[in-house]
Amino acid sequence: MAATSNLEDVPSTDLMTELLRRMKCATKPDKRLILVGPPGSGKGTQSPIIKDEYCLCHLATGDMLRAAVSAKTPLGIKAKEAMEKGELVSDDLVVGIIDEALKKPSCQKGFILDGFPRTVVQAQKLDEMLENRGTKVDKVLNFAIDDAILEERITGRWIHPSSGRTYHTKFAPPKAPGVDDVTGEPLIQRKDDTAAVLKSRLEAFHKQTEPVIDYYSKRGIVANLQADKPPQDVKSEVQKALS
Ligand code: ADP
Ligand code: AMP
Repeated sequence: MAATSNLEDVPSTDLMTELLRRMKCATKPDKRLILVGPPGSGKGTQSPIIKDEYCLCHLATGDMLRAAVSAKTPLGIKAKEAMEKGELVSDDLVVGIIDEALKKPSCQKGFILDGFPRTVVQAQKLDEMLENRGTKVDKVLNFAIDDAILEERITGRWIHPSSGRTYHTKFAPPKAPGVDDVTGEPLIQRKDDTAAVLKSRLEAFHKQTEPVIDYYSKRGIVANLQADKPPQDVKSEVQKALS
């Protein structure tokens, strides 16, 4: 549905669909979730399914940073070099964008944080942010998978940038090659989705992000998923973890 400030101009069917969605959402429990796992482990694939089921907002710091880089905003200019090298951008940059994004009305029933927090400092800052809002993280879904599987997943990934829909040449091909199923628009490959940059990204994951899993394990809120299974099986594991 198009964003508009004048509801009179919104077609009735769109309004009714949105109204029904919100009525259904009102019965769902609030959920504040973190998805953690190496690049290619399937976080972006499962997020839209969880988002629709529980009426949450989906905040993927990687997507937000890529949009900032494309738009050449001051944030994007600062983040670009680290992203191209497969290194993490500074904690302050990502904490700032999450703090701002959590204010969105679509995050009212909770959120899915995808790719954040990626360092223990980010996790601590998130705790502070949530404490100030009188809430806390409910569950951390750990997408556990062997590094060896990830190169094929990453190098075969194709993306529809404006919707975030993800495809794979072998595991989730679009109906027509190179084209988004819904809009017919062209798909792109990410600049950092190469075998060489994946090495640095995995190094960053093991060194800086794995300690985040320990951080939340101590709180007893981590659910471990076998992310090397087919997407439908991972979906079932997610459902079990959240029920
Ligand atoms: P992440 O968001 O964790 O980086 P994605 O969800 O984008 O990972 O998945 C990486 C690639 O692997 C995508 O091309 C996606 O289509 C594919 N993929 C995702 N989940 C699975 C799965 N369970 N089995 C096989 N391929 C998958
Ligand atoms: P992703 O789309 O999650 O694979 O992220 C792409 C790139 O964005 C990463 O390799 C980092 O350079 C940067 N990035 C995304 N999220 C974070 C984060 N939480 N902390 C630091 N850097 C991040």
